[in-house]
Amino acid sequence: MRIKWESGVSIEHKGTKIILDPHSRSLNYKAALITHAHVDHSHAFKVNYIPKFSSEETRELVMLDGVSRVDRWRPIKEKERIAIDEVEVIPHPSGHVLGSYEFEIATPEGTVLFTGDLNTRESRTVKPAEPVQCDILIIESTYGSPDFVFPPDEIIARDMVDWANEILNAGKIPVFQADSLGNAQEIIRIFNENSATPVVSHRRVSRINRVYETHGCRMRYVDMEDEHARELILNRNAVIVAPKRLDLSFSSDYVSALVSGWALKFRRKSFPLSDHADFPNLMEFISDCKPKIVLTYHGGRHDSILAKYVEKKLKIRAYPIDLIPTSFQSGIV
Ligand SMILES: [Zn+2]
Ligand SMILES: [Zn+2]
Repeated sequence: MRIKWESGVSIEHKGTKIILDPHSRSLNYKAALITHAHVDHSHAFKVNYIPKFSSEETRELVMLDGVSRVDRWRPIKEKERIAIDEVEVIPHPSGHVLGSYEFEIATPEGTVLFTGDLNTRESRTVKPAEPVQCDILIIESTYGSPDFVFPPDEIIARDMVDWANEILNAGKIPVFQADSLGNAQEIIRIFNENSATPVVSHRRVSRINRVYETHGCRMRYVDMEDEHARELILNRNAVIVAPKRLDLSFSSDYVSALVSGWALKFRRKSFPLSDHADFPNLMEFISDCKPKIVLTYHGGRHDSILAKYVEKKLKIRAYPIDLIPTSFQSGIV
């Protein structure tokens, strides 16, 4: 088996080559596997000729983003086994956003687990990631540095509700700016569960909420375009959930806070709620998967930092996936 970084993770067994979360538009592989709908992972939906697999939820979410036609796609359910020649693919939940998978790839030469983006903590909208025993673990390292230790989610949730109340009491409107897919839905659920204040959801967030709702994740919110939303805002009786990059400087009525794991590094008002694993979560997940080799990816400079800690603390061979191609054959490393 050969694993290589090729604008995506390529895994080859006996001439069968598959690609995971590719970025490129020229894809010469037997199939593409797509872990979830965030744009940095779902490019393959724009490449018509390649056979592709993802969850049904991922396809629905991708289609909100202007992908009008999807060819050669097949839905794959959690724990379903798909055979691509001698390669078997089994998806497991990755705990990140609706429909997100980690892929177990079993070949006669050994088993690989590819995490995509991963969250092992219990969230309000999706099941946490499951560790899977494997020979080679390919793991994201977005927060793969000891600098990133998130406070417990309940504490962050309480801080968010307290801050919103303060802003409302001052006669202003609190706005939480977050990734429209994932964190935005978590924020809505936090307020549904911990506060009587109604949630007003920006249009771009609401259309994603609707996909969550069709798949059984219930939320209470008023869409911002709705007449009722205007009334709630005028009466200073709402929190707004809006996309990260929305410019709100046109009105002094709004006070905004960013919601992201990067909050630990921000100066402006922000909350470190994240749909990714933090450093201790990553280390624990790696140790639970009992891999022989760990390949880090998707974390920029954190790729080598995480790999260094895995070697030092867990005594497992580890390096960034784009450093060198990796060959592996049933037990012979
Ligand atoms: Zn993601
Ligand atoms: Zn990502």
